[in-house]
Amino acid sequence: MLKIGSHVSMSAPDYLLGAVKEAQSYNASALMIYSGAPQNTRRIDVDRFKIEEAREYMKEVGFDPENIIMHAPYIINLANTVKPEVFELAHSFLVEEIKRTQAIGSKVLVLHPGSHVKAGEELGLLQIIKGLDLVSEQVDMGDLKIALETMAGKGSELGFTFEQIARIRAGVKDNSNLGVCLDTCHIHDAGYDLNEFDKVLDSFDEIIGLENLSVIHVNDSKNVKGARKDRHANIGFGEIGFDNLLEVIYHPRLSHLCKILETPFVEKQAPYKLEIAMIREKMFKPDLFENL
Ligand code: FE
Ligand code: FE
Ligand code: ZN
Repeated sequence: MLKIGSHVSMSAPDYLLGAVKEAQSYNASALMIYSGAPQNTRRIDVDRFKIEEAREYMKEVGFDPENIIMHAPYIINLANTVKPEVFELAHSFLVEEIKRTQAIGSKVLVLHPGSHVKAGEELGLLQIIKGLDLVSEQVDMGDLKIALETMAGKGSELGFTFEQIARIRAGVKDNSNLGVCLDTCHIHDAGYDLNEFDKVLDSFDEIIGLENLSVIHVNDSKNVKGARKDRHANIGFGEIGFDNLLEVIYHPRLSHLCKILETPFVEKQAPYKLEIAMIREKMFKPDLFENL
């Protein structure tokens, strides 16, 4: 069965229960949530997340809890060597985020590797490695994977080449809990050619190892290959195109992985129900959003 879903909101009053219901309304079989606002670190107690109610509901409707993906807030910057307080917050918050992910029962926590903020690639990568080592000393991750996301390379972002991701994985003391999140918009913006996705996958396999891939973000891109901009477009409405994205979504080597849409809202409305239907029908509809 196709594991497809989108980013959904987890907010008051129903939190996780609300998130699963939202995913259901899109006819999704997977979902991704932030444990709170992605741009800040204010978090409520997991006791209020309605986890038990959500589990009951998932059982009722047949939603597989294994298909819940978490995303750490993007203000976490493990690569920062310039401001010690930023690095400090990054690894201590990540420890708490791992505990929240475990409480929810999710097995995958997506993390942006970080930005070196002008300190340079080398220092940034070493700092990420140091941060991840500090985290794994402080918490037992069990079978949880921190999935380092492949980035677009905007600004001083790290993790925009497979080599950088591999470098981090090779540098930490124990990488058994380190997975990878492949974002189609980001790799396209970083210069990988999605017209030749099999070659991209082969190179991923050679450099990182396909067995380390934990989740896929499926987004089209508003910019040309290599633009390093990171602006997501709706499925089939960007520079990557519908057929190339469909190849990723239905690729036999990736069939066991969740595919998560993070495409932009259209007319202030979530596009996911329409996009997921179009993906399931495997036929691009240029007028998809015309009646919104
Ligand atoms: Fe992300
Ligand atoms: Fe992403
Ligand atoms: Zn992005």
